[in-house]
Amino acid sequence: MALYHLETDLEKIRALALLRTNENQRFRSLLKNRNVTKTDLLVHRLHHEIAPKIDCTTCGNCCGTLTPYLTTTDLERLSEGTQLTVEQVIYFYTETDEHGLALKDVPCCFLTDNKCTIYEHRPQTCASFPHLHQPDFNSRARRTFDNYSICPIIFNVIERMKVEMHFE
Ligand code: SF4
Ligand code: SF4
Repeated sequence: MALYHLETDLEKIRALALLRTNENQRFRSLLKNRNVTKTDLLVHRLHHEIAPKIDCTTCGNCCGTLTPYLTTTDLERLSEGTQLTVEQVIYFYTETDEHGLALKDVPCCFLTDNKCTIYEHRPQTCASFPHLHQPDFNSRARRTFDNYSICPIIFNVIERMKVEMHFE
């Protein structure tokens, strides 16, 4: 396999994402019409290769920029992790929008020195992020491309997909 430079510089990724807005729209359209299983196999393999090479503890950009949505189970786990009641967790840490209940602070109030202080009790969506190991990439493509500019794992997986699919 050819050597491939993994980009982890967040400023550079942000700038490249802006430059590649149209390119990424075209690439996303291409993926929409591609066999779902084939895309999942490619995404899963690249995620498996790339994610272990990127150190999330030196990045923390998802925790610094996104507000994770919470399930009832997440609230119970947060309650356990913070030693607060579920009602207090909701009152102190969350807000509701049209999609549901989410942690409200940006950066996340549980982030200290790029580490999650409630790691064992973090919400399911935090544990799964950037979700590239999950099935049906196409159903999450919009959100994945939205996070291309903030997550080095997503950025590098998408860029490698373009190379392997000979996308121009
Ligand atoms: S709960 Fe933890 S993992 Fe989730 S956004 Fe906050 S700091 Fe990050
Ligand atoms: S999942 Fe992505 S954005 Fe979050 S810490 Fe890891 S590389 Fe950074």
